[in-house]
Amino acid sequence: MSTSISDYAIATIGSHTALQILKGARDEGFRTIAIITPEIRPVFESFPVADELIEIPSFADYFSIEEELVKKNAIVIPHGSFVSYVGVEEIATKMKAMYYGSRGILRWESDRSMERQWLQKAGLNLPRVFTKPEEIDCPVIVKFHGAKGGFGYFIAKSPAEFYERIKEFPGQNDYAIQEYIVGVPMYVHYFYSALTGELEIMSFDKRYESNADSIGRIAAKDQIESGIRTSYTITGNIPIVVRESMLPMFFKIGQDVINTSKLEGAPKGLFGPFCLEGIIDPNLNFRVFEISARIVAGTNPYIEGSPYTALRYKEPMSTGRRLAREIKQAIEAGRLEELLG
Ligand code: ATP
Repeated sequence: MSTSISDYAIATIGSHTALQILKGARDEGFRTIAIITPEIRPVFESFPVADELIEIPSFADYFSIEEELVKKNAIVIPHGSFVSYVGVEEIATKMKAMYYGSRGILRWESDRSMERQWLQKAGLNLPRVFTKPEEIDCPVIVKFHGAKGGFGYFIAKSPAEFYERIKEFPGQNDYAIQEYIVGVPMYVHYFYSALTGELEIMSFDKRYESNADSIGRIAAKDQIESGIRTSYTITGNIPIVVRESMLPMFFKIGQDVINTSKLEGAPKGLFGPFCLEGIIDPNLNFRVFEISARIVAGTNPYIEGSPYTALRYKEPMSTGRRLAREIKQAIEAGRLEELLG
């Protein structure tokens, strides 16, 4: 394998965190490729982060151009949209291009019960889950599997309320029932270097969700009278700086997740960017409901770096740039293989 970064390109599909990833890769000196669709082209023409645009009719057609990526010696960076369009199984079994990260971990994060097993092993404080609606004895959030961005999630306080609400979703029986935690949402963005073994906190965010984030603008009486239902459709991300005394806890749980990540089918464990997603309750307990084992869109407000990366780096360090730097250092040290899953 070559030890010169000019022999490689960084590629990803043009959605989610692609702008940040490609800008960061370019700032680190890489040639960059965006895989786009016709609708997305204007974005990449306006924001010049890609040296090359490869167009396909839909992101689901990724495999039709993969050979081209292989020829160009492209390292593909997975993000949320990449995983959802290309598919976890296809990535694990069919992908031929160089893939940054551990594919085996994707299976663990995308299956709710495997994910829970892993996070439990890491000792995290998880919301209770209910296997049967009859067990509901506190407010719960009902999440449909594969729901895009929280659409259709609902809250219930009892088995009777659950059965009343589920009537609105006929035929839908793939859902999870989770204890509803009252507190503030918090998404922690980490980067774990497989090269140095160091864990970094990159930034924090919360999501801006429709209509959950606007319901408080209407009086409770009007909410009830107009029969408004809460939905959590994500529209954007809002930066957060956390209370500083919480940082030791965030470092500890991030490390605990890394330490328990050499899971079956994922011998290299988790490395690179990842995110713990949860709610902080009034007693400052961080109740984690999900892990994303890849770059998350919550890092997008920090293309020019975050207050935390400013403490560690002299230059603006986005998560996209941080992962490009890791790849660069690995290439130059002849260790790229360690970052490819
Ligand atoms: P993604 O898979 O894209 O991360 P999602 O569709 O699975 O998103 P979640 O992130 O699980 O959705 O949750 C959607 C919303 O519901 C968020 O605002 C989150 O804060 C809230 N939420 C999720 N689980 C709980 C919980 N156990 N208690 C309280 N709120 C929750």
